[in-house]
Amino acid sequence: MPVNNRISAFHNEITEWRQTIHQHPGLLYDVEETAALVASKLREFGVDEVVEGIGRTGVVAVIKGRQNGSGRTIGMRADMDALPIHEKNDGPYKSKYDGKMHACGHDGHTAMLLGAAKYLAETRNFDGTAVVIFQPAEEGGAGGKAMVDDGMMERFGVDEVYGLHNLPGLPVGEFAINDGAMMAGTDEFTITLEGAGAHAAMPHMGRDPIMVASQMVQALQSIVSRNVDPLSSAVLTVTAIHAGKAYNVIPQDAKFWGTVRTLNDEVREQVFARMKTLLEGIAAAHEMTVKIEINAGYPVTVNHTEQARFAADVARDVVGMERVDADRLPVMGGEDFSYMLLERPGAFIFMGNGDSAGLHHEEYDFNDDAIPVGASYWAKLVEKAMPAAA
Ligand SMILES: [Zn+2]
Ligand SMILES: [Zn+2]
Repeated sequence: MPVNNRISAFHNEITEWRQTIHQHPGLLYDVEETAALVASKLREFGVDEVVEGIGRTGVVAVIKGRQNGSGRTIGMRADMDALPIHEKNDGPYKSKYDGKMHACGHDGHTAMLLGAAKYLAETRNFDGTAVVIFQPAEEGGAGGKAMVDDGMMERFGVDEVYGLHNLPGLPVGEFAINDGAMMAGTDEFTITLEGAGAHAAMPHMGRDPIMVASQMVQALQSIVSRNVDPLSSAVLTVTAIHAGKAYNVIPQDAKFWGTVRTLNDEVREQVFARMKTLLEGIAAAHEMTVKIEINAGYPVTVNHTEQARFAADVARDVVGMERVDADRLPVMGGEDFSYMLLERPGAFIFMGNGDSAGLHHEEYDFNDDAIPVGASYWAKLVEKAMPAAA
């Protein structure tokens, strides 16, 4: 089956929803306008149940197939939140809220899953239950975790869960996936170094935290280059250094922070252990104290093998064999769908957004040409996972 014809017939309608959502972006959990639109459309489609307020502002709907011999329930998740970016695009559907923008394509994800819900509620051509999940706060607020913590998986009896993200640079009509780590685990660190302030002309009277912080930043770069296996992956980036105010004063302390991205717990633990050794060693050598704070972020997004292979097969059914890369290298960004994959087997897939600006860029825009592709993927996933008897 190529792109679903019935869904192609909704293309203009789904595009209108997408552009309406784009005009009214909300940050983190403040996605009330989008959630209200989603809930009202779902009711209009005549789904079996719509529940609002899961994970604060998330929406979940249940669509029962015309048979339920399989007893299976498949969850499909879209994210609804935008980013604190001033949109540079001009056009009829530019963001109406200055400083907020759908720069990650979650407007498209939401609209496509709504389109699939409309089709599934109309056709019901499957044997089991489809659950559509619209989550808030993907961009740093762990909305996926909030929905899981609200008991979503148990309440709706979800057996397997699937997610999708658009990917700039991958042509429209193509998919990419692998059967392991798809996106990195993200952690943040803050390092506070306590030295001893002094007159800038009398450094021997103090202990200079700026000089030592500089050594630390350099030393941290040896972890990825000298400690992590070259065939594994890790990123350690220092993104801020703060110390001092005057030209003639050695400050008392220095602070710097940054992010660590890894694809498995072993490497993650190794990076943090080496950070501790290096930072405490350097601090001790200079008779200073160092405080290391780690702020654990999103876990690694790890696909389950069987479900990832199934998702690749679904994508092949929609766009053809040669348009699905089933050995895609991971992306070192993070994704809070990881929390759902820790709860249930499932898979996360990338879908081409064509030659657009990159994700989180002020000129990014979701590609409406991809709508029938993504919505057909969702519809096919349900019909293939739980085929109705003739
Ligand atoms: Zn994003
Ligand atoms: Zn995103």
